[in-house]
Amino acid sequence: MLCSCPECAGKWKVGSLEKGEIVVCPECGVELEVTSVEPLSLELAPEEEEDWGE
Ligand SMILES: [Zn+2]
Repeated sequence: MLCSCPECAGKWKVGSLEKGEIVVCPECGVELEVTSVEPLSLELAPEEEEDWGE
């Protein structure tokens, strides 16, 4: 499955996705929510205060 980032237009491959899943764009690091699987649709995930410890 090929993901396409709505933020930076980057593309990358993933094994499988489920609706509602959050994926991170490897190009720009933005969080994307899977809003649809067939066809694949990604939208910017709502901002969450999360500490990734980096
Ligand atoms: Zn991106």
